[in-house]
Formats: sequence, structure tokens, C-alpha cells
Amino acid sequence: MNTEKNSDYSIKNMYLERGISEEVYAFGEQILADLSERFQKIDENAEYNQLKVLKALQDNQVSEACLLGTTGYGYNDLGRDTLERVYASVFHTEDALVRPQITCGTHALALALMSNLRPGDELLSPVGKPYDTLEEVIGIRPSKGSLQEYGVSYRQVELLSDGSFDYEGIKAAINERTKLVTIQRSKGYQTRPTLSVDKIGELIAFVKAQKPDVICMVDNCYGEFVERTEPSDVGADMVVGSLIKNPGGGLAPIGGYIAGKKECVENAAYRLTSPGLGREVGASLGILSAFYQGLFLAPTVTAGALKGAIFAANIYERLGFRVVPDGQESRHDIIQAVEFGSPEGVIAFCEGIQAAAPIDSHVVPEPWAMPGYDSDVIMAAGAFVSGSSIELSADGPIKPPYAVYFQGGLTWQHAKFGILKSLQSLVDKGIVSKFFP
Ligand SMILES: *Cc1c(COP(=O)(O)O)cnc(C)c1O
Repeated sequence: MNTEKNSDYSIKNMYLERGISEEVYAFGEQILADLSERFQKIDENAEYNQLKVLKALQDNQVSEACLLGTTGYGYNDLGRDTLERVYASVFHTEDALVRPQITCGTHALALALMSNLRPGDELLSPVGKPYDTLEEVIGIRPSKGSLQEYGVSYRQVELLSDGSFDYEGIKAAINERTKLVTIQRSKGYQTRPTLSVDKIGELIAFVKAQKPDVICMVDNCYGEFVERTEPSDVGADMVVGSLIKNPGGGLAPIGGYIAGKKECVENAAYRLTSPGLGREVGASLGILSAFYQGLFLAPTVTAGALKGAIFAANIYERLGFRVVPDGQESRHDIIQAVEFGSPEGVIAFCEGIQAAAPIDSHVVPEPWAMPGYDSDVIMAAGAFVSGSSIELSADGPIKPPYAVYFQGGLTWQHAKFGILKSLQSLVDKGIVSKFFP
């Protein structure tokens, strides 16, 4: 089609009709022009991971019957048991537990920890403070049912100021009670760098050299399929994550997974259901088709989200805001942090993301006290799956440095639109006025 003559059918016109100004659109196109090489690398990783997932589905002979579900106790649930073997194949682990009864990422992590630690054991985080909601699981902030209440102690070694591991400090912190080491791959709500799979491998090798029988668990949230390898390929005994992030591919409406050593996964199964019952119970209801199809789509969905993160980094970096990771850095998760330095910037950004959503685009997000978080948080999420953060979404804790954590986008095209909407919102509020400072 000749887009000059039929300008009503131009892509640009579609943006203008959706409230994007000429200058915001032009700025976006200019930023994009420099990203084609990086986008191609992302597509190549997605291609690699697509074949990895496909191999896992085929090797485990997933059949049409696997897409059906069970009810009641869920004994002999072929689809559930096969899906767990598929996950084990994808992560190259001995075993996996993948269940709708694991309600979210925090639950999956709590389950992995609580089932593999016993009173008197110690948990160590060698990468600084864990994700906010884990503070209550561990008992860093006193909480009912925390590990601390059950007599599991906790130690933490901060990262060095350049983001590297404090090997001396880690060596000193490991003692005869250290049973499990928890490594968070993604930065979460912090501005430290996200850890690459290679870096995680180095850390695990160091920890195991000090104490070979220590269990190394990786909080894999937001990291799945970003690289060609996973932490379980470099020595992690358990990788843990949420199905409403990367591996659910946007289709899983709930769920979490733990993939790893047989004994670790078995412990988790007995804790999830009951001693004696373990993985034999837990009906999958009608959910398996979404789990399988979501996993199948996860590599390409993750790739789209990754492109969105890189686009956002380059847009806001060019405008003079601090972005983590920066526009050029290699990526190890799908989260993009942008520091606006003011509550107004955070709020305007989130309003733009919300306005771009397929669902609830007409509502205006506001900062709110959220369970598990220690400050008000504003969340933009117009998602098909409530709270899903593989869908285009943004979270901003209303506290210094007033950073917004942006992630997701089921398609790159939607992520692009959302980022342009966020910028338009900042322009409309006078927070951004010059495009090339
Ligand atoms: C999202 C996330 C969690 C918690 O997952 P929820 O599903 O929100 O409970 C834990 N760790 C990291 C790094 C995360 O990104």
C-alpha cells in the first residue's frame, strides 16, 4: 500500500489518533533506528529458546490428553505430571513442581525455603537484601509464620559498591549451620545490577567450594528465557519463579514453579500438600492448556518484553534520566528501572502505561499501601491476568530515588505504544519539555 497517498493507513497516523504527538513519535523512531542490531540478537535468543521449549514438549511426548485436567484429589493427573517433566527438561533439572496451587512467586520461594530448611539451619543471601516480600518470609521484618519464628536464622552479605560479590564477606558468613544460599537473579525493586547467569555460576562455584553440601537456590523471577542458559545450567540446585511472569507466557492465570534436584523438589511437594501425600495430589482443574501454551509462547513473549525494556532505557536515558540497566548494557532480566527523582514523574509515567492498556485503560492509577511492601506503591497494570507483570506494567514505590520499575508487554508493538504513552504523559505534565538536552 502506498502510505503516502493513503495516509489514513499509516502507522504514524494510528499513533497520532491514540494521543501520541508528532514530536514524541518522531523521537521514538529516532531512538529505534539505533536498536535494530540488538533487537536481532534478542530474536536469535528467542529462536534458540523456542527450540529448547519445543524439544522439551516433544521429548516428553505431550499429547492432547495432557491438556485436560483432573478434579478432586487429582490422582494420576497425566497432564500435570507431564508438564512437570517438561519444565525439568527446559531447565535441565532432575525434577520440577509446577502447580496452580502455588499462588505466586513469593509463595513459590517461601515454599522452596520452608521445605528445605529445618530449625537450627541458617539461610544466607550473598547478594544483599532480597525482594521486599521475602523480608517477611525470612523474618527480616517480623511476621507471622516467618522462617525466623521456626528457628531458621538469616545472614546477608551486601554486594560491594561496584555491584560485585564480596567473596571475603561471603566466605566469613558461611558456617556450620549454613544450609541454603538464596541468590536473587533480578534486581527487583533495587537499583543494583541484575546478575547474569554466568555471574550466578561463579558465585555458586565459590559457595560450593566453601561448603559443597549447601543448597543453592536462585530466585529466577523475570529472568527466564532472557538468556540461552538458566541458573540451573550453572550449578543452582533449585530455580524458582512465578507463572504470571516470563514462563507463563501471559496465558497462565496463576501458578509458580520450582525446578531442581529431586530431593529439593520432593521436599517442596510434601510441604505444598501434606507429608505422605506430596506431589500425588493437587488437581489441575482446567488450567493445563494455558500452562502448556504459555510456556510454548514464553520465549517470544519474553523477547518482546525485553525489546520494550531496551527501548524505554534508551528513550529515558537520552532525556537525561538515570536508567538501570543503561541503554547499552547487556540484559539479564526484563525489568527496566527509570529514576524520575520525584513522585510526580513516577505517577505520570504509570498513568501513561495504564492509558496504553488493553484492559482498564480508562482508570487512573494512584499510590496505595500494598501488602508486603514498606512504602506506598503506584502500579499501572491493565492486564488480562490480574497483577500479571509479563503483561505491560509498571510499579513505583513512592520513596527515593523515585524510580519506576517497568516490565512486560505481551507483544513488542504493545510495549512500544506503552512507552510512547508514558513519555507523552510526562510531556503533557511538563515534566519533559526538551527532547535532546
Ligand atoms: C515478582 C518477584 C517476586 C515475587 O513474586 P510475586 O509473584 O509478586 O509474589 C520475588 N522475587 C523477585 C525478584 C520478583 O521479581
